[in-house]
Amino acid sequence: MSWQEAHEAYQNHVMGCPNCYAPKNLYCVQGAGVRNEYITEWAFSLPTRDERRRLMIVEKQRNPHLYPQLDALVRARLEIQGSE
Ligand SMILES: [Zn+2]
Repeated sequence: MSWQEAHEAYQNHVMGCPNCYAPKNLYCVQGAGVRNEYITEWAFSLPTRDERRRLMIVEKQRNPHLYPQLDALVRARLEIQGSE
């Protein structure tokens, strides 16, 4: 999945979900999942590891309640890649 596709899936969920409120970063379980998948795709679309790390730091600061799942997704991806 490209980050654009992941972003579309995230937007489609949030717009149709009565329990998600993106302006305040409040999400239902499914909404948090599709958002973190989108951020993960975005992170791995960045050209350098440093940029990915900066994105992760910003996410941790802004959305600490969403970060543990995001961190797990990114770590799982790195393990699949078997690098870094
Ligand atoms: Zn939702």
